[in-house]
Amino acid sequence: MHIEHDTPSIEAAVADILAAIGEDVERPGLQQTPRRVAEMYRELFSGIGQDPAEHLAVAFDEGHYDLVVLKDIPFYSMCEHHLVPFFGAASVAYLPSGRVAGLDKIVRALEVLAKRPQLQERLTAQLADALYTALAAQGVAVIIKAEHLCMSMRGVRKPGIQVATSALRGTFSQESSIQREILAQLGGIV
Ligand SMILES: [Zn+2]
Repeated sequence: MHIEHDTPSIEAAVADILAAIGEDVERPGLQQTPRRVAEMYRELFSGIGQDPAEHLAVAFDEGHYDLVVLKDIPFYSMCEHHLVPFFGAASVAYLPSGRVAGLDKIVRALEVLAKRPQLQERLTAQLADALYTALAAQGVAVIIKAEHLCMSMRGVRKPGIQVATSALRGTFSQESSIQREILAQLGGIV
């Protein structure tokens, strides 16, 4: 699905916000800011309307049934409540039922889900669901640890706090002994 990125509207809106906070939008430092922000948003929100499953569709029937683990894949996303970044790393483990995806495809799926207005909890669940469905995996675990600038820069102002979220699917969600082992492999959720 192609989603229109309406650059002129973003430029106008950014200029309006700058004026509304009391800035002089004509001063040299700010003249190009609406255009720069509009162009940057094209990249930061490029995941809107994209389906992560499209990237995972290129999977291979390798007859592989052993655990696959990817640790600490860095990502940047935008908190949908404040439109400031939250960022950190996602760790993924899945137990294939023969079908595996290229590691770069899993990274792409994370990118598609991160590059849109997001919540960390939803990002975690959506990545787990995409892997579980697209790969028909027996089990999937996703742990995301992130710092939220809306917490670090304002409000409680405690930089460095890491928020950890996890999502377990399939066999990983059913047996607590497996859960503990997987979560430990991925570095725990605290
Ligand atoms: Zn926020």
